Formats: sequence, C-alpha cells, structure tokens
Amino acid sequence: MNKRILVTGGAGFLGSHLCERLVKEGHDVLCLDNFFTGSKRNITHLLGEPRFELIRHDIINPIYLEVDEIYNLACPASPVHYQHNPIKTIKTNVMGAINVLGIAKRTKAKVLQASTSEVYGDPDVHPQDEAYWGRVNPIGIRSCYDEGKRAAECLMMDYRRQNGVNTKIARIFNTYGPRMAVNDGRVVSNFIVQALRGENITVYGDGSHTRSFCYCDDLIDGLIKMMNSPDDFSGPVNLGNPGEFTILELAQMIIKTTNSESHIVYQPLPSDDPAQRRPNISLAASALDWQPHVSLKQGLMPTKQYFQEILNTAQKPEV
Ligand code: NAD
Ligand code: UDP
Repeated sequence: MNKRILVTGGAGFLGSHLCERLVKEGHDVLCLDNFFTGSKRNITHLLGEPRFELIRHDIINPIYLEVDEIYNLACPASPVHYQHNPIKTIKTNVMGAINVLGIAKRTKAKVLQASTSEVYGDPDVHPQDEAYWGRVNPIGIRSCYDEGKRAAECLMMDYRRQNGVNTKIARIFNTYGPRMAVNDGRVVSNFIVQALRGENITVYGDGSHTRSFCYCDDLIDGLIKMMNSPDDFSGPVNLGNPGEFTILELAQMIIKTTNSESHIVYQPLPSDDPAQRRPNISLAASALDWQPHVSLKQGLMPTKQYFQEILNTAQKPEV
C-alpha cells in the first residue's frame, strides 16, 4: 500500500539511502533537512521523481504535515559535527523528537526514532544488548549527543504510554557506506579519504579501541523492517553488524583495499571515546527476522569507489 512518509535528515548519509528505497517501493516521500551535514548531491537523483518532495526546514521548529509514517533521522551523527554546536545538537534531539511526535499525535502517524549505540556510553557489558542501561557521562563532550538521544528515546516511550502514539526505537551501531561526507570525520570515511589522498591515517589512541561496522544497505533493510513490525513492538532494537574490529585493524584493511602508501600515525584519544562496541542482535533476528549480510571487507569496496569518484570530480579543473 502506498504511504506518505516523512524522513527527517533525509539529505544525509542514511536518510538519502532511506528516501531512495522508499521511493522505489512506491511511497510518497517528504525529505526534510536543514543541510547542516546533509547535501543536495545526496538527493539530486531523486528530485525529478514525482513521488519525492524536498522541504528545507530545521526540525527544532514545529511544522505541520499530513503523513502516515515518520523516520526521525535529523541529527548530525559524527562526533566532529555534533560537538561543533553541542547546544544545537541536544536541541535537535529533544525538540526534534517533540515536533515529530506532535505531528504523529495529530495525524496518527507511526514514528521511528533513529537512536544509537551511544545510549550505552562506554559500556561495561559486552556485547551490548537492549536490556543494558548503559554507562554514559552526563556532562562530557559527547553528552549533547548521547543524552540527547536518550531523552529522545524517553519522549518516544512517554508519548506512546501517555498519548497512544505508535513509536519505535532503533539503536543504530556504526554504519558506513557511499554518501558519507568527505569531511564527515567518522572513522571509515576519514581513513578512506586519507588513504586515497596518500595522507597519514590518523588512529586515535593506540588503535586497540573496537567498533562493529554495518554497511548502509543492511541498515536500511533493518529500519524498514522495524517500521513495518507489529504495533505492539516498540523496541528498542539494536541494528548493527556484530563483526568487531580494532581501529588499527580497520586502518590496515583500508590501506590494503585502496592500495595506499599512507602511513599510520597515532594521535591522542578524544575524551569519553568508548573503548569497545558490538551489538547483540538476537532481538532483531527474532522480532524482525533481520541480520546484516555485507561483511566489512565487502562493504569497503563500494565505499572506496564512491570516495574515489568524489575526489576525482573535485580535482577536475573548471572548464
Ligand atoms: P548525517 O549527518 O549524514 O545525517 C544527518 C542529517 O540530519 C543531515 O542531512 C543533516 O543536515 C540533518 N540535520 C541535522 N540537524 C538537523 C535539524 N536540526 N533539522 C533538520 N535536519 C537536520 O548522519 P547519518 O549517519 O546519516 O545519521 C542519520 C541518523 O542516524 C542520525 O540521527 C544519527 O544520530 C543516527 N545514527 C547514525 C549512525 C551511523 O553510524 N551512521 C549510528 C547511530 C545513529
Ligand atoms: N577514530 C580514529 N581516527 C579518526 C576518526 C576516528 O582513530 O580519524 C576512532 C575514534 O577515536 C573511535 C572510533 O575511531 O574510537 C570510531 O569513531 P567515529 O568517530 O567513527 O564514531 P564513534 O563510534 O566514536 O561515534
């Protein structure tokens, strides 16, 4: 059945892949973005589609729209960008959630909140499952994002209990792929861009920190399955790839994938950087019949190709 679907943050990395999939599935998609970290380049190919509509709007301000479903993705996701204006980041999370929940309450739309593994903070339970309440520093430099996302989860549950809004929470673990911004600052894009440019690869700390990396197509499948799950399943549900790698292993894989002559250099670890992270995805497997299919080795190839094309275009002289 054709639905009218709002994607906030729709011009961002994940949002643009989601909009593309939803348009392909025959839905009418409203892509809302303030273009802080998103870009028109990510959605240019959709602009001619009659089912696609672009709205430039900042989600901290209310907006009146008639929709059936809302994916709330608006929020900078890279530490560099969310720490650039931390007050704005927490406002986007809290006021953005209130504004989309307001639309949902009025129109009876379903809302899916793009939450994060950051709600687990620097975890002392490994791998992380949804029952774990986390170990988050409430006053550190990552708190604007971590606590913002935790507050957004709280709002989802309170609107569900108090107002009967159909809400769903997906906790996304590190996801990468084409359409990440060149200047995004997250580890996969940073390392690939550095490797392709022959610059030093900047490993923070001694490289022993771990992350688990999910390819974007797998993640989008999970988000859509979560939105389409039965109404009594609100989550939270972890979505991520349990394959766990140290940051040093990632750097070495990227050097190999890009045939780069770059050298690894070590730089200070930012404060509150979680030491390890791996999702337990048994709930997603049982409740959504979801699991990722793309290994890190496989997913790095199209990601590398994407950045290669972007960097080549940027280098072409003006005619
Ligand atoms: P991204 O930065 O590429 O996308 C975020 C989008 O939100 C951008 O287009 C940006 O311009 C837009 N945006 C930011 N503030 C806004 C505001 N106030 N009003 C309207 N639009 C605004 O990041 P992404 O990786 O695509 O992440 C999308 C969502 O998924 C975010 O909510 C993020 O927290 C969540 N998430 C992503 C990951 C990941 O690894 N990619 C992990 C956990 C959670
Ligand atoms: N990192 C790194 N070099 C970089 C960027 C990030 O070593 O150029 C490390 C960072 O310290 C963290 C991990 O890579 O341990 C993942 O960082 P990212 O910013 O991608 O996401 P996070 O999971 O920390 O939000």
